[in-house]
Amino acid sequence: MSASDPRIDQRRAGVTREILVERAVAAYLGLAIGDALGATVEFLTPREIRDQYGEHRDIIGGGWLRLRKGRVTDDTEMSLALGQSLLDKGGVDAGAIAEAFSEWMRTKPVDIGHTVRRGISLYRRGGETQVPENDYDAGNGACMRTLPIALFTLGADVAQIAAANRTQAHVTHHNALADAGTLTVIRMVQTAVLGGTPASLRALAEELVANHPSYRFDRKREENPGGYIVETLRAVFQALFGTEGLESAMIDVVNRGGDADTTGAILGMIAGPLYGLASVPKRWLKTLDGATSRTCRQQATSLILKSPLLSSGT
Ligand code: MN
Ligand code: MN
Repeated sequence: MSASDPRIDQRRAGVTREILVERAVAAYLGLAIGDALGATVEFLTPREIRDQYGEHRDIIGGGWLRLRKGRVTDDTEMSLALGQSLLDKGGVDAGAIAEAFSEWMRTKPVDIGHTVRRGISLYRRGGETQVPENDYDAGNGACMRTLPIALFTLGADVAQIAAANRTQAHVTHHNALADAGTLTVIRMVQTAVLGGTPASLRALAEELVANHPSYRFDRKREENPGGYIVETLRAVFQALFGTEGLESAMIDVVNRGGDADTTGAILGMIAGPLYGLASVPKRWLKTLDGATSRTCRQQATSLILKSPLLSSGT
């Protein structure tokens, strides 16, 4: 039989689908594990981390939030709220997303960013689903929760993906520099899910730098990165491209301290699909909160199966 035998095509498509779903799951677990791992050392300097932990390499909880071991923070929780909204609504709807974030805030989350709280409060007062454009909104708060957009829009064209991201981002953060950085993260996740190499991810980072030179990451080592997205992504890119595996990249980025749960989360959503589910250390998978882990797996699967790439029945 020729290669166009429909049974062979179907089998090939089946394998591809399975692999894509597994990489989506790896992205979601990477996000949650990076969050749980980094939260322990959030707001510490690299020196403080060395003094207290040597090299921080296990999910142990604690930190300024006094977390139970395995517990995640707002980075993962807001992603899950966004993802559930996309699934419930069957699309990217600003009102549904704002409502999902507002519902999440009602659960009295363990932490919540200032810019996020302000955006949700604006929505609650007057139903506004987009904050005004603001130079001071170049925080990483919309980037840390963008994974559901990356999975749900897989196979869409870049303009549609960018629009979907602006819709979710502008509920709380409205800034062109942040939008550009977040779109790059989305494209890196999608490229990794589709089987991209570190070199192809690096090309996306270089493209961002060409358009927005403040993201240059080839100069000094980014330590103690703050909530400013430029610092966050410089640290993520340096850790990603300066290592050769998921575990070493994650350990590198969280030991830089600063907004370590968020650098961990963003790096994890990229490194997960790049290196695959099998590259995630078992000790991290075992320690991650069980309910969180299950929800991440389910949501990753549902979101990617609803994407333009996989929902068209090919
Ligand atoms: Mn957090
Ligand atoms: Mn954080």
